[in-house]
Amino acid sequence: MDFSLGEKERALIEEIRQFAKEELPPDSVCQTLIDGECRDFQFEISIAKKLAQKGWLVMSWPREYGGRDASLWEQTVYEMEVGYWGIPGAWMGISGTQWVGPCLMLFGTEEQKKKYLPLIASGEPDGVWCTGYSEPNAGSDFANLQTRAARQGDEYIINGQKVWTSVAHRARWCWLAARTDPNAVKKHRGISIFIVDMKSPGVTVNPILNYYGRHHFNEVFFDNVRVPASNLVGEENRGWYHLMQALAFERRSTAPVTYGRFKRILEELVEYARNTEYEGRLLSQNPVVRGKLCDIAIELEVLKMFAYQIAWTISKGEIPVYQSSRNKVMSDEVMKKVALTGAEVLGIYSQVDPDSKWARLHGTIQGAYLGFPGQAIAAGTTEVEKSIIAQFRLGLPKSY
Ligand SMILES: Cc1cc2nc3c(=O)[nH]c(=O)nc-3n(C[C@H](O)[C@H](O)[C@H](O)COP(=O)(O)OP(=O)(O)OC[C@H]3O[C@@H](n4cnc5c(N)ncnc54)[C@H](O)[C@@H]3O)c2cc1C
Repeated sequence: MDFSLGEKERALIEEIRQFAKEELPPDSVCQTLIDGECRDFQFEISIAKKLAQKGWLVMSWPREYGGRDASLWEQTVYEMEVGYWGIPGAWMGISGTQWVGPCLMLFGTEEQKKKYLPLIASGEPDGVWCTGYSEPNAGSDFANLQTRAARQGDEYIINGQKVWTSVAHRARWCWLAARTDPNAVKKHRGISIFIVDMKSPGVTVNPILNYYGRHHFNEVFFDNVRVPASNLVGEENRGWYHLMQALAFERRSTAPVTYGRFKRILEELVEYARNTEYEGRLLSQNPVVRGKLCDIAIELEVLKMFAYQIAWTISKGEIPVYQSSRNKVMSDEVMKKVALTGAEVLGIYSQVDPDSKWARLHGTIQGAYLGFPGQAIAAGTTEVEKSIIAQFRLGLPKSY
């Protein structure tokens, strides 16, 4: 296990830095660095297309599907750098690049691979996906989902409701989990995955504003939506096993970008502490502030090693089980620590909007503060991730 960067990775980092300088607005910090997502969809798409043209968007995919056969290790280095600069578009239609594509490569049909993978790799709006897992009564208890897919000839008829569906208002496709066998003895059996065209008749997307007023979530209704049987992904009624794989891919993807983003914000916090006096002394001389900044620095190093280690595990052909959950928990902890420490160091300045003249560090601490509770819920809550680690790392029995 050698995690030192070679010439190839260093050259890639240099290229991305150059890209960030050329493509991001001068003298301004990208929204993606501030609160983890880009509010300007057109700008995001334009950058996604440029990333695709450079062969970066899905670099570890095979060339035939729009990638460039890069190693996951290289992709991890890329993701960290993208996080550091807050480059939008890299996670545009994040479901597509991070878990739909990799899952289609594992258990999609040839027809599905040929149709959807190049679309995702293009960075075009038609390659944007959303993920339809959660329902009003199925979040952590994901296996309880009730959305029904009933086979009728060459089609499935979908009826039901999803909730908290990120970016459904922008997505062209939905990666949907639905129940195909309502009589299965165990509820996690009898679930299947479908590709649903969001333009299909019977799909309704309603916005849900999050607790700070942003439109990120939606509720999505399926009312007799007809889906060709060829849009079933993997085996009917065995979707649960495919979904666990998809979730492992999703959880893996959090660590590198979180590392990059919060490494940058830590650097800015350190600079702030160096140059700001409080009660006649520089903050950087305050032992409590120093200790807290060091805590973040240590956790960031651990997160980086976790991100490298999982890339190494996957590149050996092993499937990470608890490691994706471990990385997700660590990412959430780092984000929370930066948010809370940042709020203490900046005081009241941390709570104002990024465009206020009173904002400090471009509003990145406010962004982290507003965002960290949500990050610790998305893709499985911290309790659920810890339960997976307890079972698969510590060998404890399943929780009830
Ligand atoms: C930013 C964000 C983006 C999201 N994007 C999407 C998306 O694109 N698509 C999608 O389908 N969903 C999405 N979600 C929804 C997310 O997957 C669910 O919110 C999450 O799975 C939790 O489900 P729930 O909200 O129903 O909470 P619940 O499952 O009701 O949990 C409530 C509390 O109980 C705890 N709890 C529940 N069961 C257990 C247990 N067995 N052991 C210990 N503690 C337990 C939980 O940890 C939590 O603290 C998103 C959520 C967020 C915050």
